[in-house]
Amino acid sequence: MTLDDGPRNPGRAGEPSAMGDRQRSTQRDLERYSGLFAERTKVMRSSAMRDLMAITERDDVISLAGGLPDTSTFPPDSYASLMQTVAANSCARALQYGPTEGLEIVKRTVVEVMAAEGMVGIDSADLLITTGGQQVIDLVCKTLIDPGDVIVAEAPTYPGAVPAFCAYQADLVQVPTDGEGMRVQELDGVLDGLEEQGRRPKFIYTIPSFQNPAGVTMSLERRRRLVAIARERELLVLEDNPYGLLRYEGDPQPTLRELDGGNFVIYLGTFSKILSPGVRLGWAEAPRPVLDKMNIGKQGADLCSSSMTQHFVAAYFEQGRWQEYLGSLNEIYRRRRDTMLDALAEHFPHEATWTHPHGGLFIWATLPDYIDTTDLLARALSESVAFVPGRAAYLDGRGGSSMRLNFSGVSSEDIREGIRRIGKVVREQVALYGTLTGLPPADRASEPAPAPPDERLADVLELPRRARDRGAGAGGA
Ligand code: PMP
Repeated sequence: MTLDDGPRNPGRAGEPSAMGDRQRSTQRDLERYSGLFAERTKVMRSSAMRDLMAITERDDVISLAGGLPDTSTFPPDSYASLMQTVAANSCARALQYGPTEGLEIVKRTVVEVMAAEGMVGIDSADLLITTGGQQVIDLVCKTLIDPGDVIVAEAPTYPGAVPAFCAYQADLVQVPTDGEGMRVQELDGVLDGLEEQGRRPKFIYTIPSFQNPAGVTMSLERRRRLVAIARERELLVLEDNPYGLLRYEGDPQPTLRELDGGNFVIYLGTFSKILSPGVRLGWAEAPRPVLDKMNIGKQGADLCSSSMTQHFVAAYFEQGRWQEYLGSLNEIYRRRRDTMLDALAEHFPHEATWTHPHGGLFIWATLPDYIDTTDLLARALSESVAFVPGRAAYLDGRGGSSMRLNFSGVSSEDIREGIRRIGKVVREQVALYGTLTGLPPADRASEPAPAPPDERLADVLELPRRARDRGAGAGGA
């Protein structure tokens, strides 16, 4: 059978078929194309969050599933005047292709942002401006990963990285996490175990500050130890740091890049959370030989990132008020985090635990292990509320009783109502379990909840296992 054999999307003559028609693949459609698919498509995974977006865009659904910053806080008249500036000063250049590595005016901005996080003296020649931080993850994999190569990451890890790791057919080894981030004290053992099998990870992927999804921050001691391990073993670390500047309490920690001095750390930054994800701009700072290969990888992907949004970002930073806007964002997010913590204490049953993030956008909640959050999501959606099921953050099927909750992209009112609705379906499950097992369900809602146990992330403390269960659900940004 050939690709042209038979009508593909029968619609009225002269009219393009609706996307909806195309999405309904029949068995015959699948057979027609499947022989052409690359091997890697067998392990490619869709992103749970991207999939959820179709549902959560409905007006009646309160979505605590996204990782969305609140772009409604950006003043429309500033947006208009920035666009005006770009039009007046750089129209032709903004509409033109640019260099693959990015415009110098944006690199200067990146140097300023990195300095604000303690990384002084960054050379703009060591920077690659990318299409979001997401492209850095993709390009690092493209540069370093052959099928079967090992990536070491936290457990849980950023669900949006999982589709990239899978697409490059990496073998993900996840190291447990607790209230101080990745349990670096277990890393040596994991690396020794791999070495015994003749395997050396291509890189260690970590989100040390206000981790997505767990909300935890790596302690200074562990940061130092991680950098030392990278040096001793000559291993690369991909430090993913979208949230470092979104701090609501506590003192800033040095980045791994700062501690390492740029020898073994590939640093990922992004404008998505300090300005806007709509500009789709991020960056990598990396040892030159690695950066050069990433540049070639980017040439094949998109030639260069948008010149229009690069000019927009440069004009915005030129105004010199970015820290002011960031300060106002941090105020809003801190209040929303507190609202969510209060609502969890009020509406979640005693058996649940959750993290207390000092910054970032997420809280990670863990329910009794007899509750499967993937199943629970269906119930939650019927109550018009959504979260990300914990399995999206693992490749080995763990995380089944956890969930990621976002507090930045929704109003305080919606946070309270959303958590109330999730709490309701959770309590129903607890009561059902009580009925089935003969244990009387307590009236948990009327009792005060325990203090959030930051020290342990409940189900994430098992020993690391190699990726086996390729069937588990994955996630996206
Ligand atoms: N890394 C992490 C940990 C993230 O949470 C995100 C987005 N939520 C990204 C990378 C990618 O973001 P972007 O492409 O918008 O920069």
